[in-house]
Amino acid sequence: MIWDLSQLVRSTEPTALKKEMISGVAEAQEIRKLYHGKIIDFDAKSVLGFLELRDAYLLKYEGVVEYCYLLYSADSTSEVAKELHEAIREAQMKIEQEFAFIDIELGKLLSKNPSLVQNPVLGEYRHLLEKILRRVPHMLAENEEQLIIAKDKNGVNSWQLLQSDWLSTRTFEIEIEGVKKQLPYGKIIGYYQSPNRELRRQANQIVYENLGKDEILWASAIRAVCGDHLQMCKLRKYPHAMTQSLIANDVNKNSIDSLMRTIERNVNLYRRYLGLKAKLMNLPKLANFDLAAPLPKAPETKYSWQVSRKEVVDAYAEFDEEMGIWAEEMFTRRHIDGKIRKGKESGAWCASWISGKSAYILQSFNERLGDVYTQAHELGHAIHAYLGSRNQKPSNLEIGSCIAETGSVFGEILLTERLLRKARTREEKQAILANVLDEFGMAAFQVSARVFFEQSMYDSIQQGKFLDGETVAKLWTEARDKIYGGSVDWLDVMKWEWTMKPHYYMANRRFYNYPYVYAQLFVFALYKLYKEQGKAFIPKLRRILAAGSSKAPHDLAAELGFDINKEGFWQKGMDQAKEFIDMLEATM
Ligand SMILES: [Zn+2]
Repeated sequence: MIWDLSQLVRSTEPTALKKEMISGVAEAQEIRKLYHGKIIDFDAKSVLGFLELRDAYLLKYEGVVEYCYLLYSADSTSEVAKELHEAIREAQMKIEQEFAFIDIELGKLLSKNPSLVQNPVLGEYRHLLEKILRRVPHMLAENEEQLIIAKDKNGVNSWQLLQSDWLSTRTFEIEIEGVKKQLPYGKIIGYYQSPNRELRRQANQIVYENLGKDEILWASAIRAVCGDHLQMCKLRKYPHAMTQSLIANDVNKNSIDSLMRTIERNVNLYRRYLGLKAKLMNLPKLANFDLAAPLPKAPETKYSWQVSRKEVVDAYAEFDEEMGIWAEEMFTRRHIDGKIRKGKESGAWCASWISGKSAYILQSFNERLGDVYTQAHELGHAIHAYLGSRNQKPSNLEIGSCIAETGSVFGEILLTERLLRKARTREEKQAILANVLDEFGMAAFQVSARVFFEQSMYDSIQQGKFLDGETVAKLWTEARDKIYGGSVDWLDVMKWEWTMKPHYYMANRRFYNYPYVYAQLFVFALYKLYKEQGKAFIPKLRRILAAGSSKAPHDLAAELGFDINKEGFWQKGMDQAKEFIDMLEATM
């Protein structure tokens, strides 16, 4: 259950690793010396040579970089890990500075000579160049960009620090079985999913009541972050508050508009599920603190590491034999760390190892159904990395959020299919389906409310309104009610829910939200297609995963015969959700 990181490097000796870092920085300096100021005169062949050189550089040092980060996430208390982590961060910052000229100079070259993008010599890098070209009209001069980085560091970036410091230093008083306890934020939110309804209610009430007491602080922060963004939109000539995010996610406004319209047209489907969940919980109506709660009759099945491994690997193998082999290889090569221990990072993620054509997964395996799902999810990312690294240049593996979750969420549905087939009792089936639908509701609908909320803040500022705490809270509840209508009872203090979302305080993370909605419906639509086409669909999914970031999401969908600008595509994803809801209703 513990991973083997030694495969990443030639030697795990700290002095040898530091030597490699030094030569990595020196090589970056050398590249800058050779090419700075020269890119503007490149022809297609020299652009190709240069991009291949940069890719070779990335591959050469990837193992060392990854080793240092992964070692630290596996044990942040180890002195060696701390030292190497700090050293690699320092080296990477230097390398980033040395390479900062590349995108700026490529941008200048492409705006001088846009036909280069279509040059067949650069075929493999075409979409990378298209993405740079799309950013060109919004780039500022090099010294202006540097100034923005400098002013953000102590300016707009500080709001995020303030918010996270607030959350990590406050304690909240809660009464558990007659005993009063002071709990930090990270602990008290654990009670949001407690089987005890009164504890769930209390935890929500206490946290949001306290956040609301500092509404003046949160409103100031939100006003500053949004105001700064609108100012930058003017400077960078973004036509819309969402443009920066659209470019970063490699999508266009039309497709997101049709996605959000599909959500609005299907709110009743989600509300229908919430009604069914209320019935399963023996409640006339759900309260907000029931949304993520487990079903009262859910069986408490334990899944050992070996059982989980078999279920997940078989789920992939039943779909595609080779995917099953890759999933199994992640275990046999010891690329998954599941053991719970002190000093290990919480949460779960998968890091691609491109030069090794594989990946590494970290999770905290607790033998619960949710942990089996997490394993399936992360192995989906790993399979994405297996296919991508075998088919693409490293530069084409910077996959945007809309597509990055394709393998992972698809894998979760494959697991669902398998577990449902094996489920013996009605309660087991209900627990599996509720798990899937809770996640779907959260990612597709709850997150959509946040998209509406964010847009309404920019609209209000542009109409000259002053956003004080109560005004922001009103925008929040209006956006929320657009999704939930009267289907859920909300504690009054939930109007302060926006205050705890870190993304709202992050600079350059405007409209972080819709990619989650996008990914959910995209994958549900793919799964529906699989059900219609059977085995013929398998190579199509492989092509999407193998494409990495070499194609825009729009083109990936087009290859399947879909137009993501049209609501019909997104509706297909919604219809798959409806099938799961119908299945749940049939068990009742
Ligand atoms: Zn993921």
